[in-house]
Amino acid sequence: MNRDASLQRLDDRNNLWDVIVIGGGATGLGAAVEAASRGYRTILLEQHDFAKGTSSRSTKLVHGGVRYLRQGDVSLVIEALRERGLLMRNAPHLVRDRAFVVPSYEWWEGPFYGVGMKVYDALAGRLGIGKSQLLSRTETLKRIPTVEPKALRGGVIYYDGQFDDSRLAINLAQTLADLGGAPVNYMKVTGLVKTAGMVRGLRALDVENGRESEIKSRVVINATGVFADLKMDEPSGPNIIRPSQGVHLVLDKAFLPGDSAIMVPHTDDGRVLFAVPWHDRVIVGTTDTPLDEPSLEPRALDGEVEFILKHAGRYMDRDPKRSDVLSVFAGLRPLVTAANHHHTAAISRDHHLFISRSGLVTITGGKWTTYRKMGEDAIDQAALVAGLDERQSRTRSLRVHGWLKEVDRADPLHVYGSDAKSIRDMIAAQPPLGERLHSRWPWVKAAVVWAARHEMARTVEDVLARRTRALLLDARASIDVAPMVAGLLAAELGLDDAWRQAQVRDYAALAKGYLLD
Ligand SMILES: Cc1cc2nc3c(=O)[nH]c(=O)nc-3n(C[C@H](O)[C@H](O)[C@H](O)COP(=O)(O)OP(=O)(O)OC[C@H]3O[C@@H](n4cnc5c(N)ncnc54)[C@H](O)[C@@H]3O)c2cc1C
Repeated sequence: MNRDASLQRLDDRNNLWDVIVIGGGATGLGAAVEAASRGYRTILLEQHDFAKGTSSRSTKLVHGGVRYLRQGDVSLVIEALRERGLLMRNAPHLVRDRAFVVPSYEWWEGPFYGVGMKVYDALAGRLGIGKSQLLSRTETLKRIPTVEPKALRGGVIYYDGQFDDSRLAINLAQTLADLGGAPVNYMKVTGLVKTAGMVRGLRALDVENGRESEIKSRVVINATGVFADLKMDEPSGPNIIRPSQGVHLVLDKAFLPGDSAIMVPHTDDGRVLFAVPWHDRVIVGTTDTPLDEPSLEPRALDGEVEFILKHAGRYMDRDPKRSDVLSVFAGLRPLVTAANHHHTAAISRDHHLFISRSGLVTITGGKWTTYRKMGEDAIDQAALVAGLDERQSRTRSLRVHGWLKEVDRADPLHVYGSDAKSIRDMIAAQPPLGERLHSRWPWVKAAVVWAARHEMARTVEDVLARRTRALLLDARASIDVAPMVAGLLAAELGLDDAWRQAQVRDYAALAKGYLLD
């Protein structure tokens, strides 16, 4: 995948694309891969980096949504469980199963959640991962040695999926390129182009060089997440999105050693809270805070941090404190508003498709787990709107770039799947590239070079936040390595010392927002 090659294709003014997708998060990437895999000529434009928005800030679960089960939304759970199974098949290098334990402290919790989890197992059908079961107090402590032991009665264990969200986004962009499509990051859509009221293309600004161009297409898909209001189409159009912020804290693995995660089914505000092992750290979250304005860099509120620390402390024998937090990150749920809903937890996560009078297809809502289905639905509609040849979806069995059957999760390069071999070859040819970026991390210098050459990384942030996950896992250490990463990137991209210095400055300013003082 190469940005210059994609740009060259865009530059051809005679190019008439079948499908242009705006937005390089889970939803846009899903739609673009769907379109390209059906043989439609497809491009995807992202204003910043792929997965810069919500799609790099999730809880990293590929799940049916135990919470929706409680709300009785069975069809939503069945659909998501089916997608969970498909994703595990199609991207085994990035998706794994994970055991979750619901600790019980009241007599009724074991049987109550035990029955709920049996229903969850049953809904997964053939694509189930493992059978849930009741655990005794001793078994619970064995699974989660750091669980709060006072008044612990036992627990329930069930299984769900876990993944690396931004790595999947990058691999989907590569899948799009492999299929002949053109993914372009740092390309902001500034307006739609219409003929007789119908959308016939758009204007896009190359953020790197300030050049604006017009690109023609038979249909445009708006997959801009929390930015997906319809004002792009009609300035006086309705606001269809309400952002709701979710925050996660990242802690040292000592807070949750072992392989199992904790699921707290009921927080004080009626939500689900997770503490999940991830890349040798623990992610704890999340919250649900309605916001008025979307932002690409949302910031955790103090109250959200305190809320998570308080709840985590109830379930862990050692209470985590602010000073234990390695990183804090916030993401915005693109919830589709329904009239008179003030409590965002009650708004549906199911996805929504809007077809504007101008032919603009907007897809939003949903979750990472269902990105493929969202893409399929969007392209079914888009093909109708644009009168494209009817073609069947084949993404149910389409392997994501990097697909690898046997994955050795102890190998630090396993997230690269089939690309790991090329990275190893690169290190063999140039052994200094095998040096680690930081003594506490698995990532080596070759990951930076690889990201620049094959994953369209353009900035230090792209590398540290989304090609590796250093920003989310250890924000302070990531600031320390920024100069080294900037040097490697500058050499690869042919950029000068002033660029390098500005990158280090900008990155430090950004990463400070992921630290608690
Ligand atoms: C806290 C939290 C936890 C979550 N946890 C999970 C989970 O564990 N599992 C799960 O399945 N789901 C989870 N989700 C849901 C999931 O992350 C989202 O549903 C999904 O990432 C939304 O993707 P998206 O592509 O719609 O939006 P985004 O990822 O925000 O992508 C939209 C993109 O559009 C771009 N854009 C906007 N305007 C323009 C423009 N004019 N030109 C070009 N590009 C533009 C933005 O830069 C952005 O990158 C979670 C969500 C949150 C907030």
